[in-house]
Amino acid sequence: MSGETLPNDNATAVHDLKAATDANGSGSGSDIAYNPDKLGENIRNEDGTTGRPPQIGLIHELSHAFLNSLGRKNSFIATFTNDPDTKFKGIISMEEIDVRTNYENPARKEQFIKPRATNF
Ligand SMILES: [Zn+2]
Repeated sequence: MSGETLPNDNATAVHDLKAATDANGSGSGSDIAYNPDKLGENIRNEDGTTGRPPQIGLIHELSHAFLNSLGRKNSFIATFTNDPDTKFKGIISMEEIDVRTNYENPARKEQFIKPRATNF
């Protein structure tokens, strides 16, 4: 266990941050909080709507855990772009962009679910 408190929402907490970010192949385990009742009311989709089905929230968090396990966690803030959900610049991490672009949206496509908004 990481000792971090997970919220009553969807989230991933890494066990060993250094091992998860080293990119040296060691990687780290993670804890995932998953609440299927949380439908992402603040998550923006490409068509301007918000929300997503529960399984997409789980896929999103599993993708973070997968990257942690490979030692590919990237917490650097992408200062060049806005977070499509909040519209704020300077808060979204490179890892979050990776998860949304390369894991979440492909999973949505497989399931004929509208894509999540991306502007990266
Ligand atoms: Zn995420």
